[in-house]
Amino acid sequence: MTYQDTVQYNPNEPERRQINEQMMDKLTSIVRGEVILPGDAAYETARKIWSGNFDCYPAAIVRCADAEDVRIAVNFAREQGMLLSVRSGGHSIAGYSTNDGGLVIDLAHLRKMTIDPVNHTARLEPGLTWGEVSNALQPFGLAMTAGNVASVGVGGLLLGGGVGWMVRAYGLSIDRVRSVELVTADGQLLRASADENPELFWGLRGGGGNFGIATAFEVDLHPGGTVLGGIVFYEATEAERILKEYARLSVAAPDELSTQAMLALAPPAPFIPPDKQGTPIVGILVCYTGDLSEGERVVAPLRQLATPIADLIAPMPYPQIFALTEVGEVRGLQHYGRSQFFETFSDEMLHRLVEASQSVMSPETIVSLWVLGGAMSRVAPDATAFAHRDKQGMVLITHFAPLSVDAASLHARTQQVFQALMPHANGVYVGFVVDEVAQRMHDVYPPAIYDRLVALKNQYDPTNLFGLNQNIKPTASATLAGTVK
Ligand SMILES: Cc1cc2nc3c(=O)[nH]c(=O)nc-3n(C[C@H](O)[C@H](O)[C@H](O)COP(=O)(O)OP(=O)(O)OC[C@H]3O[C@@H](n4cnc5c(N)ncnc54)[C@H](O)[C@@H]3O)c2cc1C
Repeated sequence: MTYQDTVQYNPNEPERRQINEQMMDKLTSIVRGEVILPGDAAYETARKIWSGNFDCYPAAIVRCADAEDVRIAVNFAREQGMLLSVRSGGHSIAGYSTNDGGLVIDLAHLRKMTIDPVNHTARLEPGLTWGEVSNALQPFGLAMTAGNVASVGVGGLLLGGGVGWMVRAYGLSIDRVRSVELVTADGQLLRASADENPELFWGLRGGGGNFGIATAFEVDLHPGGTVLGGIVFYEATEAERILKEYARLSVAAPDELSTQAMLALAPPAPFIPPDKQGTPIVGILVCYTGDLSEGERVVAPLRQLATPIADLIAPMPYPQIFALTEVGEVRGLQHYGRSQFFETFSDEMLHRLVEASQSVMSPETIVSLWVLGGAMSRVAPDATAFAHRDKQGMVLITHFAPLSVDAASLHARTQQVFQALMPHANGVYVGFVVDEVAQRMHDVYPPAIYDRLVALKNQYDPTNLFGLNQNIKPTASATLAGTVK
């Protein structure tokens, strides 16, 4: 893992790696949470994150009990000049939420959730997962638009964007944020909202973890309850025709319908006929929120694109839809991914997508095509730091595999599909930028947005303490003062 392109200082400098033991004892004695050190029983589990690619050994993991612990830990990292990772749900695809020899500020125990069912608002702490949030809101008939995988953390996703099952109906997750409580690099606890620190509030919605550590989010909720959701599987013999028809129907569908198409090999699951298991398939995943009989009518054409191998679309409580992406919850696998946004789905782009995906297909491959638009596209392009409101779609090429599988081959296969689509692509989602950060930051943030983010970085984190992320590099030189107290 190389950090060189994301941090200004060199983590291999010996003086940065040496921990002042007296200070570490002091830290342990003053935080209300735990400080987990190498040799502690909890260390082996605590050092690991979702991705098996990153087998890192931090010098210490501070599992904070509250925002005050976060403040103490930030001051500590700054004063000791330590490499710093911030972790909420631990699903950083790029491995930023762990490191070798530095400090991890782990927010897994900041998991309070307060729901106001009358005003349809909630206060979420970052260590909650989206599965937990949706389960807690369900009894109130409420929900919060989020990503597609239940185990992803509130903290990372809610600072990056949040594209998921309800993106066309209720927008990105960041579109529902009313305020953020944040510990900045100088150890201050601030609040950012439309009225307080509005420029910071703009940058926090899409700018990732660059400006501080979010300790709580106040969000607007929306109706949840029962959705028409699930997946229909088709044989991939006519994949190109199916995808073209899928794209045409899904782009024109009402906002209530959010969808994805997926190219993969059929899983060895009981609902797939035995002779079709392991053969190439196209899956169409749907989530319709709203009147169910209208949903049946809208979704029907997507269930008739060919003769289905299996059709698992049915009314279900919203939290149940996360079962469709349980494969994404498995921890410790190696993972290679690349993603791209697309302004439109041209026939040529879909042809290349199918051709390239089929040429690399293996049991580890999942290529998904997400149709965007709807509520996400109606937010003003400069309202948040997320820059890609105008994109009709997104492709995510992923390979998940046990650590024993040859990494170079997974990487090459991912890259092959990515390169085939490159002539048609335009931009990338910050949450899906993996190991190509230096080259792709301007694909994440066009120059005008990037410059605005740099100005915020100069103001709130001029020494790049929060450097392990899809990094906005500060251009101002400054020092931050403060003591651990
Ligand atoms: C299996 C999988 C499925 C995914 N699916 C989706 C999806 O459907 N839609 C989508 O939009 N995204 C998706 N993502 C991307 C996801 O949104 C990002 O990886 C996100 O950063 C993960 O958040 P986390 O809190 O779990 O991760 P962590 O690893 O804990 O955090 C990732 C990074 O975010 C920053 N960060 C985290 N918490 C805080 C905080 N409280 N304050 C400041 N900075 C913080 C840090 O830089 C940290 O290194 C998926 C990722 C994975 C691995």
